[in-house]
Amino acid sequence: MSVATVEDRTDLYIAGARRPARSGERFEDRDPATGLRLTEVAAAGHEDVQAAIDAARAAQPGWARVPPRERGALLTEVARRIRGVADDLARVESTDTGKPLSQARADVEVAAQYFAFYGGAADKVYGDTIPLDGDDFAVTFREPLGVVAQIIPWNYPLQIGARSLAVALLAGNATVLKPAEEAPLTPLALAELLAGAGLPPGVVNVVPGLGEVAGAYLAASDDIDHITFTGGAETGRLVMAAAARNLKPVTMELGGKSPSVVLADADLSRAVPVITKALIQNTGQTCSAGTRVVVHASRHDELVDRLAEAFAAVRVGRGLDDPDMGPLISAAQRERVLSYLDVGREEGSRMVTGGDGRRVEGLDGYFVAPALLTDVTPEMRVAREEIFGPVLSVLAVDDDDEALRTANDSPFGLIAAVWTSDVDRALWLARNLQCGQVYVNSYGAGGGVPLPFGGYKRSGFGREKGLEAIMEYTQVKTIAFDVRAPRE
Ligand code: NDP
Repeated sequence: MSVATVEDRTDLYIAGARRPARSGERFEDRDPATGLRLTEVAAAGHEDVQAAIDAARAAQPGWARVPPRERGALLTEVARRIRGVADDLARVESTDTGKPLSQARADVEVAAQYFAFYGGAADKVYGDTIPLDGDDFAVTFREPLGVVAQIIPWNYPLQIGARSLAVALLAGNATVLKPAEEAPLTPLALAELLAGAGLPPGVVNVVPGLGEVAGAYLAASDDIDHITFTGGAETGRLVMAAAARNLKPVTMELGGKSPSVVLADADLSRAVPVITKALIQNTGQTCSAGTRVVVHASRHDELVDRLAEAFAAVRVGRGLDDPDMGPLISAAQRERVLSYLDVGREEGSRMVTGGDGRRVEGLDGYFVAPALLTDVTPEMRVAREEIFGPVLSVLAVDDDDEALRTANDSPFGLIAAVWTSDVDRALWLARNLQCGQVYVNSYGAGGGVPLPFGGYKRSGFGREKGLEAIMEYTQVKTIAFDVRAPRE
């Protein structure tokens, strides 16, 4: 049997073995396409999370002593194994999250790429040599942090699970990973794939559970050395506050309201399909989703007409049937999205298309149609707040300066896109946009394995992905040498 199947019940993964929660408690994981029970997941309590931390603590020194080349070879082998069960993993991911099968397949490939990328980097984590007075010098080493906690969301459990685990392991850390309630299945499968590739027991532990129980315990633990959190800003605040009490460092990835800036000279036939995909990918539940368009007034009507046409053509359906867009993750998330559409109406924006909780024949899942809002102004909530659904807010501007000001007028700063045929304008905007990544005439939601990723402003801090993430998962030791000549 493949490690990647939806079983009737799933357990925790601690110290290299599956085990139920000590309390015996479980919670329901629902299929977003049908609203029906998919499986029952063991709910880690405090004792279970502590057992996972203890297992990680015991395993970490041994793992850190494994030569980097061997750690890298193991990660590379995991990439191979992920690709070996790609179809099964994609089906599980699609079923658990609701995302279209082809997007889930892309996520599987990206997950494999994370392991391949960090596997290749494992024996290339060098330090510096620092010349001092005379012959004196110092060298630096990047050492592991120890036991790291990783609290991840439901939107990309496999991709985010892979990017978190691969880099932590490359650096010689052991981890306790808490997946989200709504989508814990592929992170559990990853733990088993790692074990199959030879990872010693205890180095990776996966503890699904309720956020306010398992997540909160992990965040407040004095026995961990670092926390990486990906999710909503409100929960991020709680995690940071808990970590602060023990002076634990955190990396925060908190989402955004990412703008696509469409200048007067943009090629709309190139931009429209990309802007549409940047919104509907994963039903808008992507931290880096493109949810604002800032467009020059001279191109506004043409862009809106083309986007309305593209949105109307979006096929909504069950992930496994591979539509363009699947359901939202949960009833609560659909309520949230629909309530923002009411907010948009009350604030005076105009709904050009979408806005309904769409019916998909034979399914009672959490579907919505992609929504296009125009007449949006920068102070509106639909321009400022992360909705986390397929809702695109269009803001019209009169010139390039106003385009930059409007794009930057946001509490968030995760990513941005610039659409123009003029290289000077593209470079000027790219240099002046306040965000962690800028795409010129393209958009990079998800993926981007080698590209440092993280936020300015309230989108968070610290960087994941790329070689930059290795800095987050290591600490620097400096060793200084006082060099004397033999005769001294
Ligand atoms: P959360 O931010 O609450 O969930 C992210 C992770 O944090 C989950 O594993 C969750 O567990 C865990 N968690 C919840 N409460 C705590 C706690 N007190 N201490 C430690 N960990 C905790 O996201 P939601 O699912 O509630 O979504 C709410 C909103 O957040 C969304 O509508 C969206 O706007 C935003 N969001 C942003 C994401 C991003 O990638 N930027 C991803 C997900 C959400 P559990 O699942 O058990 O609650």
